[in-house]
Amino acid sequence: MKTLTEWQAAAADLEVRTRAFIDGSWADAADGSTFSCINPATGASIAQVTAGDVEDVNRAVAAARTAFDDGRWRNMAPRARGQRLIKLADLIVEHADELQLLETLDIGKPIRYTRRVDLEQAQTNYRWFGEAIDKLYDDISPTGPGTIGLITREPVGVVGAITPWNFPMMISAWKLAPALAAGNSVVLKPAEQSPLTALRIAELAAEAGIPDGVLNVVPGMGETAGKALALHMDVDAVAFTGSTAVGKLLLQYAGQSNMKRISLETGGKTPNLIFADAPDMRFAVNAVGFSIFWNTGEMCVAGSRLLVDRTIYDEVVEGVKGVAADWQPGDPLDPATKAGPVVDEAQLATVTGYIDRGVDEGARLVAGGRRTLTETGGYFVEPTVFADVDNAMTIAREEIFGPVLGIIPFDNEDEALRIANDTTYGLSAAVWTSNLARAHRLARELRAGTVWVNNFDQADITAPFGGFKESGSGGKDKSIWALDKYTNLKTTWINIGKGGR
Ligand code: NAD
Repeated sequence: MKTLTEWQAAAADLEVRTRAFIDGSWADAADGSTFSCINPATGASIAQVTAGDVEDVNRAVAAARTAFDDGRWRNMAPRARGQRLIKLADLIVEHADELQLLETLDIGKPIRYTRRVDLEQAQTNYRWFGEAIDKLYDDISPTGPGTIGLITREPVGVVGAITPWNFPMMISAWKLAPALAAGNSVVLKPAEQSPLTALRIAELAAEAGIPDGVLNVVPGMGETAGKALALHMDVDAVAFTGSTAVGKLLLQYAGQSNMKRISLETGGKTPNLIFADAPDMRFAVNAVGFSIFWNTGEMCVAGSRLLVDRTIYDEVVEGVKGVAADWQPGDPLDPATKAGPVVDEAQLATVTGYIDRGVDEGARLVAGGRRTLTETGGYFVEPTVFADVDNAMTIAREEIFGPVLGIIPFDNEDEALRIANDTTYGLSAAVWTSNLARAHRLARELRAGTVWVNNFDQADITAPFGGFKESGSGGKDKSIWALDKYTNLKTTWINIGKGGR
């Protein structure tokens, strides 16, 4: 691992790709527009990046359509496609220092995690789908002797991927790896806060042998480039991760255009339930710190509502207060730093606005609560803890997407479950108990796509990820089930002349 000084030197020498990647070439926006890519740890501009709009999206979709229709990728044998994705995974590992540095500068994520988490998960996704794609078989329906019913999977066509800024490399891999493995062409619109790794990965994909036009990246704003992609008549599916509000817009765009398939991974308000019989209270309380302060709380699964058995409430509040002190933010390039800034000035205003709201609505501030490290020019917020939160308060209902925890007491299991499920979201939930029956009961009753028992945020490429309710719809990311989003089932009936089915 490099030292802070070595990372600073590497940052000074870093070459940054800034133009759209369309049909295998770098491209400026048709109208020449660019936007500033800001380092949130300093507030300084890293680069001017191409701001794509309708015309640029049209060019990228046309390239993707041509590549799909002429079969240069979808008609390649699955193993050959898989080998190229595995090669891309190898190239990502080969360029690890560069990619992790790009990600850290772009979004302020501590350098100690961009390799271990973001890059590692990205390369795992390309590798895993690359390895899996030639091991999947189609089906024959169980009919009588007169016909053969073939059930085959086909790529859907041109996929638009629209991604957020909190895990740019990893979440784009969640979309791109299965979409490309299945034989689709893709146009990726990364978040405007974090376009840099996507552009480099597109270039590495070309080096790995993924043909021109198959993977295109158009940076730009959501309301222009993103909207154009989602409204496009020649895009067959959109895979999205981002806010619930934008997810709802995408469903409308599909209805206003060609009824394209929309898959949404959206927001969350994860309840984290600690019972008095939690097997290891110290471990549970430390995990609370991780659940809300890791990645500066900019996690869809952030455990932002901590529900605690009243008999251990004071003890847990004190414990969490202590843990919060371990998550003070610092320079993301310093390998010792565990928490960075929030992603931009707008997010800083959002997070501090919610903190003010918590105080105004009567929650008890027990840790943090302020912007910090202002001398850096960066957007740092103290790890913040509110106790005595009521589930009706704004900070318990709305997704904050920052290092802000609300602690809510409960008197019994029924009440804990009622509060936990009293939310429009349903992404994830956690339960800490040594009562096996209670663990199973709650795992069944919690309305969430993922339930953790005596852990927080366990995950793996082999298991699907995605939410219930307003946390998502239209399919899952990761695992073999992710392929459902990027494939159509086709039925072919062949009459073999014996009559009858
Ligand atoms: P966002 O919805 O503002 O933006 C996400 C993407 O959508 C960006 O690329 C943006 O440019 C684009 N976009 C914005 N407006 C658009 C429009 N009108 N049409 C088309 N595209 C548009 O979300 P964000 O602030 O980038 O990310 C944070 C959100 O993402 C949080 O709500 C978080 O919970 C969610 N998230 C969910 C998951 C998950 O898997 N469930 C994972 C990470 C983040």
